[in-house]
Amino acid sequence: MTISLKELKNKSPMFISGYTNVIVPNSELPKKWNQSESFVTKKIVCPCGSKDFQLNSSQIVKIKGIFKKKEIVTHLAPLTTECPKCNSSALLLDPTRHGWSGEFGESASLVGENDPTPYAKETGEVLVNYSYQSFENYEDLQNEGISNLEDYFDTVTVYFKSGNGYVEVVSYVCA
Ligand SMILES: [Zn+2]
Repeated sequence: MTISLKELKNKSPMFISGYTNVIVPNSELPKKWNQSESFVTKKIVCPCGSKDFQLNSSQIVKIKGIFKKKEIVTHLAPLTTECPKCNSSALLLDPTRHGWSGEFGESASLVGENDPTPYAKETGEVLVNYSYQSFENYEDLQNEGISNLEDYFDTVTVYFKSGNGYVEVVSYVCA
């Protein structure tokens, strides 16, 4: 029996299985997001029921400019979450472990080396958008006897929603 794309999108990949995760319909999302059929967007919820997280990213800070100095911060995975309500913390995304390449033990490019620190001062909702493109590859994996197909997503983008709407935190091609 071959799994359908819809069934695959309904499954809960390991990286978000520690959270309650719910599919967000495209109609509730910004139009410019990846909304084609191979993509799915989920909101993560802490097991305690809270949707409000402190999101942490691995950051690189560069100072630009000679007279007017400006800090340019690049945000990278690994991403971690902290829930202020129940004080739990969790690893959200590490492309060296999660997604197509992570499953094959290859490291994705541009993973930060610094310990994750707060992405924003405020807490907010966290959404993940990921994809299963070229569905025939997933049929091949299944024919090879791999059962956790949902963990082999090929792109992943993490969004943070605070007062100012959705902001893209990181976006990775995983395959
Ligand atoms: Zn919590």
